[in-house]
Amino acid sequence: PDEQNPDVTLITPSSPMATPTHGGRAKCLQRLVRLDLPVPQTVALSFDMVHKIAGGDMPDMQALVAAFGQGALLCVRPSSEDPDWGGPGAILNIGMNDDRLRDLTETLGAEAAAELYLRFVQSFAIHVARLDPDLFEEIEATGAEGLAEALRAYEDEAEEEFPQDPAVQLSEVLRSMARAWEGTTARLLRQAKGAPMDAGLGLVVQEMALGLGQGECGSGVLQLVNSDTGLPQVTGRYLSQSQGREALQQESESLYLVKDPRGPSLEEAEPEIFSRLQVHAELMRRKLREEMQIEFTLVGGEVHILDGVRVQRSARAGVRIAVRLAEDGIISRQEAVMRIEPRAISELLHRQVAPDAPRDVIGAGIAASPGAATGKIVFSATEAQASLARNEACILVRRETSPEDIRGMHAAAGVLTERGGMTSHAAVIGRGLGKPCVVGAAKMKLNLKRKTITSATGKVFRAGDVITLDGTLGQILAGEPDTIEAALDDAFQTLMAWADEARDIEIRANADTPADAATARNFAAEGIGLCRTEHMFFEADRITPMREMIFADTPEDRQAALAILLPMQRADFSELFRIMEGLPVVIRLFDPPLHEFLPSDRPGLRDLAEALDLPVSDVTRRVEALGEYNPMLGLRGVRLGITLPEIYDMQARAIFEATLDALEDGDPVEPEIMLPLVSAKREVELIRSRIDAVAAAVRAERGEEFTYRLGVMVETPRACLRAGDIAPHAQFLSFGTNDLTQMTYGLSRDDAGRFMSDYVRQGVFGEDPFHVLDIEGVGELLAIGAERARMIQRDVTLSICGEHGGNPASIAFCRAVGMNYVSCSPFRVPVARLAAAQLAI
Ligand code: PEP
Ligand code: MG
Repeated sequence: PDEQNPDVTLITPSSPMATPTHGGRAKCLQRLVRLDLPVPQTVALSFDMVHKIAGGDMPDMQALVAAFGQGALLCVRPSSEDPDWGGPGAILNIGMNDDRLRDLTETLGAEAAAELYLRFVQSFAIHVARLDPDLFEEIEATGAEGLAEALRAYEDEAEEEFPQDPAVQLSEVLRSMARAWEGTTARLLRQAKGAPMDAGLGLVVQEMALGLGQGECGSGVLQLVNSDTGLPQVTGRYLSQSQGREALQQESESLYLVKDPRGPSLEEAEPEIFSRLQVHAELMRRKLREEMQIEFTLVGGEVHILDGVRVQRSARAGVRIAVRLAEDGIISRQEAVMRIEPRAISELLHRQVAPDAPRDVIGAGIAASPGAATGKIVFSATEAQASLARNEACILVRRETSPEDIRGMHAAAGVLTERGGMTSHAAVIGRGLGKPCVVGAAKMKLNLKRKTITSATGKVFRAGDVITLDGTLGQILAGEPDTIEAALDDAFQTLMAWADEARDIEIRANADTPADAATARNFAAEGIGLCRTEHMFFEADRITPMREMIFADTPEDRQAALAILLPMQRADFSELFRIMEGLPVVIRLFDPPLHEFLPSDRPGLRDLAEALDLPVSDVTRRVEALGEYNPMLGLRGVRLGITLPEIYDMQARAIFEATLDALEDGDPVEPEIMLPLVSAKREVELIRSRIDAVAAAVRAERGEEFTYRLGVMVETPRACLRAGDIAPHAQFLSFGTNDLTQMTYGLSRDDAGRFMSDYVRQGVFGEDPFHVLDIEGVGELLAIGAERARMIQRDVTLSICGEHGGNPASIAFCRAVGMNYVSCSPFRVPVARLAAAQLAI
């Protein structure tokens, strides 16, 4: 090989070698050579060279073979830019021919030499000459007999003798591997894994260390950590008298690598060799700054290092490995933070279906809230609560959920809906509770009367049957596959603390209940960015006064019902303030249309008629009158505050009284009150003056002072456009990207799930815009809103509290437009903290 010509290069400490030209394996081997590790002689062929070879333009083969010692056997392995992109399998023992058979018969014995030749003929016939594999795989005899049979079969099929010239053998191997890489199937496969269209392949030609013969001979792999936990533990496989990856493929072990109760081990039999391997692995860890698995071969007790690959690892082990590398001073803390995919963090927060568990997939939908949940199927919130009372895990299956189902969702282990998308009710609540949730499983047929679900393949599941939801992948599985526990261990806590050191945007949580708030604090959220107060009205003791309030004919009657709700709300807020210990809490006033609080079925209507002492017909008529065709765009949000101001008055009073209570015996609180669904500045003016009046009244009654901040949810397109008008009336603006996405696209957030997968599959949307912020459209409105608000009022606090607040790509955008914080579901807070840190590093 010509050292001046980097297309074909002997790997030396100084040869020009780079991952984008020669591939990751070649680059790694060069690092091992630089470390002076016992790596057999290796020549690297560049991407360009391999591309030429695929086109029939071969390098000087005689020179290439001559670069290795006379009579050496060679192996060729792929070296792509990213090992995950795959590549053709390695071919071993190139150079094996009749002459070598004679030589090796002397050193290894006739049987072993013939076996080696036989294996080479088999792999050459199948993978290089591409002869019928059945003819070769089924040769049963081993040794000399099998070899003769294989050579005969080769001659018959290929209509020529088995090539004897090592240069010819090598040239055929290179050509076939180069062509395999350029084939359409291989290209499509790697493109699916993220490889670019024109991804190149390098090849490395290495002298074989045989692993067969006298003394301790064999091959294996060794690593210093456990792949599941990331904790230090020497593990691996070793097989005497073997080569290549045989140690990994064969069940029986002639020698275990490390001490093992089942039989003798290399560690005990050859402690010196074992410790030398360990020293090599430790050197690689330190110098390559990564946990590496070493691939080694022993020849007569001599160690040869053939390769090093990054240790395979679970999400949990990934965190532990990065943290340990930083703690050992091998990488910086910042680098440790950069090495973990934010997505992997969310895997650690929830129980998961075990990666190797068999899956009986019976349906699929949108992966709305991660984790695995197993339980018996129930079809109503009441049954879910009954299940909980019996201490039985259940999966709540609904066509879609509404606020009425919240208690059932609390009681269930997981939630499955036929309809809905990333921001539908079930999805938002599921994420908030940290419960696995799959929504929009449109192909599962739900029969609520018969209480069955039928899978696309016609399998029927009844109430009481056990299913498992995989909310991480959006799958529904029959039965109960094995799961693995959440892993919030010390390594996780350490990594998150390092992330916080680097982060420059605040992370708050969307939390509606004391339990949510506690979770948020547990994950180190820096406050509550959105408390959706309507979720507080579904407790059994509140729904009736709530309904009475809705049915009230006069302001006085309404006041009377609200007076019952006031102390309950005050207690809610006191509890939130107590848990948050002085951290900011944004309380959003009542948002949803009132009919969501009313019963829709016959028994519910009858109960309500009893409670209100009205005829059922009267109740039914009034419930119907409150129904809206498009409740998302109807009488909800601040519009309720304008038309039925007593509700907001009550909520403001509850907030202020809880604030004064907290001031008396806890940390000082400055509550932040937020108005939903604003589209005009006059709405803010009107509500602000009423809230100010309530504040003045509470101050006067209690003779105590407090301050509060008023903010506006910017979640209608008009509010974005008129943010300059609105900002002077608000201390903070929080972008509600769920409603904003809905209104920008004119796409119902509750119904989009039905066709979202078709839209994404056909490339109409790159991603579900309720999941990943649509930067081009919704993002432009956000940028306009942020800019116009800041132009008029520089110090206005800007944030996002839609579901996008927990998505790494969306956080990047929010940081770029200068937002002060993002607020997301409590269980997404760690993901957001890590993603935000990576943006700042
Ligand atoms: C939003 O619309 O983005 C939002 C946070 O509010 P909700 O999801 O409660 O409508
Ligand atoms: Mg909203």
